[in-house]
Amino acid sequence: MDNCIFCQIARKEVPAKILLENDEIIAFEDINPVAPVHILVIPKRHVNNIMDPVLAAEEQLAAKIFSAIQEIGEKTGIKQEGFRVVVNRGPKAGETVPHLHFHLIGGRDLTWPPG
Ligand code: AMP
Ligand code: ZN
Repeated sequence: MDNCIFCQIARKEVPAKILLENDEIIAFEDINPVAPVHILVIPKRHVNNIMDPVLAAEEQLAAKIFSAIQEIGEKTGIKQEGFRVVVNRGPKAGETVPHLHFHLIGGRDLTWPPG
C-alpha cells in the first residue's frame, strides 16, 4: 500500500534499523522503544492485521513470521532471560499501524498483566 509506513519501510523508502530481512519478512527496531530490546517483525507484503484471512490461508507466511521471531530471539539474546511477543489489534489494544506487526520486547523485567 502506497501510504502505509511499514510498506514504505519494507520498500526501503523510509529508513529503519533492520535486523533481519528475507524474501517475505523484515524485522527492525521500533522507533519508540518501550524496553532495551524492542523489535517489530512484519510481513513485507501488506497484511492488514492479525485477523486478516491471508494469515490462516497461507501457512508458509505464518511459518516465516514465526521463524523470524525465533531468529530475532536468538540474535538479540533476549531468549535467555525471557521476552514478550505482542500483537495489538484494534483501538482498545492501542493498535496504531494498520499493517500486521509482532512486537518483540525484552531486556528488562516485564510486568503482568499488561496495561
Ligand atoms: P502498535 O501500536 O501495536 O500498532 O505498534 C506500532 C509501533 O510502530 C509503535 O511501537 C511505534 O513506535 C512503531 N513505529 C511507528 N512508526 C515507526 C517507524 N517509522 N519505524 C519504526 N517503528 C515505528
Ligand atoms: Zn503496509
